[in-house]
Amino acid sequence: MPEPVGVGVCAHWIGDEHRHCHSRDRVRPYLTGPRCPDHTPNALKGLPEPGTPRKASL
Ligand SMILES: [Zn+2]
Repeated sequence: MPEPVGVGVCAHWIGDEHRHCHSRDRVRPYLTGPRCPDHTPNALKGLPEPGTPRKASL
C-alpha cells in the first residue's frame, strides 16, 4: 500500500531551534496541521496517541 501523499511536512515550530520541523516521516494531518509522530498534539503533551496502543513494556 503506497504512502499517502499530499499531507506535506510537519508544521510544528521547534521554538528551541527557531525552525519548523519539516519532517516527512509518517506525517499525518491533525487539527493543528500536518504533524510527524514526535509533534502530534498528544505527543507534545506527553500522552500516547489514541488508537495506536504502544507495546506494553512492563
Ligand atoms: Zn515534527
